[in-house]
Amino acid sequence: MSIENIKEKIRDVKDFPQKGIIFRDLTTVFKDKDCLHALSEELTKLYKEKGITKVVGIESRGFIMGPIIANNLGAGFVTLRKPGKLPAETWSESYEKEYGTDTIEIHKDALNSEDIIVLHDDLLATGGTMLAAYKLVKRFNPKKVYVNFIVELEFLKGRDVFPPEVEIEALIKY
Ligand code: IMP
Repeated sequence: MSIENIKEKIRDVKDFPQKGIIFRDLTTVFKDKDCLHALSEELTKLYKEKGITKVVGIESRGFIMGPIIANNLGAGFVTLRKPGKLPAETWSESYEKEYGTDTIEIHKDALNSEDIIVLHDDLLATGGTMLAAYKLVKRFNPKKVYVNFIVELEFLKGRDVFPPEVEIEALIKY
């Protein structure tokens, strides 16, 4: 199955979560066993020879493919969560959304300076969420951080918010 075949399975939902937005719904990809397998293979392929030690997924849609990629790569999986969800000591990072601010958190012992990391989320829109995630993982001074998405909404230019040296991969573009 090609990446184009996977793209065809994404469901467009008009006016969700609000009027004027076309939501790219990946649940229709995940529920198809052949699509899920192809997606797993394609995402894993991007990081096969890079010595990845941890995949970090962003709550909540980064928790679907994140652990699959981690397992395929023989790496661990770390969760970046909404405030108040992680039980032990955390670092947090806040970022601006269209309406108000959001915060994400990570356990202070989740990563270390030896780690080679893939940061994963399902979709890149404005880049605000992933940039906050990137800043959080950089606090651990890891060896390297790669940034990964299944989908990129190119017209929103989310890539441009990252420092130019960051290696960003997205399988499917709109
Ligand atoms: P950003 O911070 O503007 O880049 O928004 C990205 C975040 O919003 C990700 O965590 C996505 O899961 C979510 N998101 C925004 N738009 C969509 C969409 O069309 N489909 C799925 N998730 C979306």
